[in-house]
Amino acid sequence: MSIDPLSDGHIHTSLCHHATGSMEDYVLAAIKAGMKEICFLEHMEEGIDSHRTTWLTEDDFAVYFIEGERLKEKYGKKIKIEIGVEVGYNPDHVDLLQKRLSQRSWDRIGLSYHFHRPVGEDYHLNLVSKSDIRLQQLPLEQAKRIEEAYYANLTDAVEKIPAAVICHLDGVLRYYPGRDQVEPPWHLIEALLDTMQNNNVGLEVNTSGLAIRGEVFPCRKILTMAIQRRLTLVAGSDSHRPEDIGHGFEKLAEIVRQAQLQ
Ligand SMILES: [Zn+2]
Ligand SMILES: [Zn+2]
Repeated sequence: MSIDPLSDGHIHTSLCHHATGSMEDYVLAAIKAGMKEICFLEHMEEGIDSHRTTWLTEDDFAVYFIEGERLKEKYGKKIKIEIGVEVGYNPDHVDLLQKRLSQRSWDRIGLSYHFHRPVGEDYHLNLVSKSDIRLQQLPLEQAKRIEEAYYANLTDAVEKIPAAVICHLDGVLRYYPGRDQVEPPWHLIEALLDTMQNNNVGLEVNTSGLAIRGEVFPCRKILTMAIQRRLTLVAGSDSHRPEDIGHGFEKLAEIVRQAQLQ
């Protein structure tokens, strides 16, 4: 099992409102970092009630494609550039997400589940944000239920969204203060990985986890489970600054080797 450390498959831009740098800045940084391939993976969300917008509108995506094509033309001899999307699953708006995805020719579709609407509520919790104060106050039992719902919904999403790869698979509740006290629901993670295998969906090894928790997303145990199922592994930095492209990729070969030994 191998992973290509010269291909960064998860890059954001200033278009998502919480990253810095133009698309061209990222391309130039990637060339400087010696990458041979990058994939922009900008945020698509649908029907999310959140206090801030962290995703692109369809007008933004139009600009994104035009600029992406220009950059492919300009830098194509130096680096392969892909224009992809990180689609956030929303079980309440599957049809609309499918429709929006089908309207453009993405080089890659990455699938995440960032926002969760608790049963009976009309707001969404941002499961991956450090600024969502409601997460900080979540009782442990409720956090467990939310994590279970996260994996169940993501499994459902794999069946419904034509994704190539699952992003930051165990990044759920990454900033939750009681994170260490919540044992991951392993049976649900197994079910998700089985569904990925059946649908030929790859697994992202996301190095943004190194700074957040000292380990990539997903953790070694899940990586081992993925390798046993022969899932394709794809490297992603989840860069929100040009200088983060390829961050930690020099560690990837050893991380995968260690996971294989388990
Ligand atoms: Zn994400
Ligand atoms: Zn991302």
